[in-house]
Amino acid sequence: SAKGDGKARSQIFHAQMDIDYHYRQRLKADLREAVQHGGLTLTFQPLVDIATRKVVACEALARWDHPELGLVAPSTFIPLAEEMGLISQITEWVIGTAIAQCSAWPGAVSVAVNISARDFRGVDLMAVIEEALARCGLAPSRLEIEVTETAVIEEHDIAKRLLTALAAKGVAIALDDFGTGYSSLSYLHALPFTKLKIDRSFVADIASDEKSLQLLANVARLGRDLDLIVVAEGVETEAQLDMVLEHTKVQQVQGYFFSRPLPARDIAELIGRLNAPRRLVQANRRHG
Ligand code: C2E
Ligand code: MG
Ligand code: MG
Ligand code: MG
Repeated sequence: SAKGDGKARSQIFHAQMDIDYHYRQRLKADLREAVQHGGLTLTFQPLVDIATRKVVACEALARWDHPELGLVAPSTFIPLAEEMGLISQITEWVIGTAIAQCSAWPGAVSVAVNISARDFRGVDLMAVIEEALARCGLAPSRLEIEVTETAVIEEHDIAKRLLTALAAKGVAIALDDFGTGYSSLSYLHALPFTKLKIDRSFVADIASDEKSLQLLANVARLGRDLDLIVVAEGVETEAQLDMVLEHTKVQQVQGYFFSRPLPARDIAELIGRLNAPRRLVQANRRHG
């Protein structure tokens, strides 16, 4: 009967909620443990200048390899960490580790770090950043802070104060995942952004769909008109790269086509290889 079905469904629903509840409780306990005992690692993904094909920055992306469950996605554990009040501790660690790595990279490649809405009310980010830069002797211009539209809107006043102070020091400020949040354009010039990262959903179909390409080109033009460095996220294929290059004013790309996020050791090697003078690379190829 319909009534019986409803009851069965509701039991299944409650059982599922139970599993979710216990799973989440376990993840939370294990996440606290991981944060306290060095269980997180950082990977780095290059941002490539489209004209020169050189790496100009690398984005630090946190990874949690759970001893029994395997890799847990940041889209799962970052919101949990925010909920648990653990995010400041993670952010502080990410900033310190990312800056230390960056200071060992060849050339003047920058490092980008993601911060959450909750970070604006957590630790004194300015102090954490200044201390980490000083410890490694890294210029503030080598650091990029990535924030999402959602985060800056939720914490507008406090975000404005912090980002303005960071920008005054020379830190680059990127608006991440542009186009997926509230997309109110008014804060684009109310806040001191230097870079606009267009979300990968705008890139996904550009090689096969003319309208998608037009949309990406228009968003990129908007960014350029505001004097921002424009980045396209999620470039996975050569066809997409060609479209970006030929039909948009995007200056930098990030995505699997150039590299997936890599462990610290491998990213230093990749930077060395991609940023080596072209002639040297050719000479190596001829003789090796
Ligand atoms: P995000 O900041 O927008 O980072 C880019 C995400 O896109 C990364 O996912 C990256 O692996 C993925 N990606 C890069 N290129 C491609 C591509 O060509 N195709 C596809 N399909 N994906 C691509 P990831 O590492 O899973 O991180 C997801 C999100 O989690 C990040 O999005 C960021 O919002 C958050 N996150 C990661 N690490 C941290 C962290 O240390 N702190 C904070 N607060 N958030 C973090
Ligand atoms: Mg990001
Ligand atoms: Mg992004
Ligand atoms: Mg994204």
